[in-house]
Amino acid sequence: MSTLAERIDWDKGDGLVPLIVQHAHDGRVLMLGYTDRAALEQTLASGQVHFFSRSRGRLWKKGESSGHVLALVSLAADCDGDTLLCQAVPAGPTCHTGTASCFDGDGGAHPWLNRLEALIAARRTADPATSYVAGLFAKGRKRQAQKVGEEGVETALAALAGEPGELRAEAADLLFHLLVLLHGSDLVLADVVAELERRHRPA
Ligand code: AMP
Ligand code: ZN
Ligand code: ZN
Ligand code: ZN
Repeated sequence: MSTLAERIDWDKGDGLVPLIVQHAHDGRVLMLGYTDRAALEQTLASGQVHFFSRSRGRLWKKGESSGHVLALVSLAADCDGDTLLCQAVPAGPTCHTGTASCFDGDGGAHPWLNRLEALIAARRTADPATSYVAGLFAKGRKRQAQKVGEEGVETALAALAGEPGELRAEAADLLFHLLVLLHGSDLVLADVVAELERRHRPA
């Protein structure tokens, strides 16, 4: 049996081979990068996806500064060994623009909401004593769901009270807590927007 590295045609792309990353849960394409032998070795040894950064000319662990690492689930070469495909579980938005995937288009659901989603992902494991978001995650899914219920009722009551400023504030509370709940369920708002689009124009 040959190793994965031996089955790759390294000469074809001057030592670099494209690596497509798919979300292990739903198959969404998250990003494409290039790998050399060293990056492939690091990926297999660490269980986290590494690339060779062409712009920086060095080994690059995805998430090395953002914390949005990609936990490797499986990795395989294509038919003729010139492309790699891997399944991974992302620790946060994979694209540096804050979208879940590099192919979500310009801004995904909404540019600011994408940044808020990135912030929620980053705070998830912070100290619950100083981070409200970390506190919500520490308390578990039930608390996050409860907050969405509470803020939904408050939004409805504000609408009936007829005060536009109050409705705006409660709707903001609702949206924020919905983002937290979605994140805890491995979803982003862009997924919800895509669902709405599918309903409008069935496949
Ligand atoms: P990270 O590896 O997530 O810590 O990001 C480090 C740097 O790599 C970012 O500042 C970007 O310049 C770049 N980068 C991160 N993610 C991507 C991506 N999905 N596609 C292209 N460049 C990226
Ligand atoms: Zn091929
Ligand atoms: Zn990107
Ligand atoms: Zn509220």
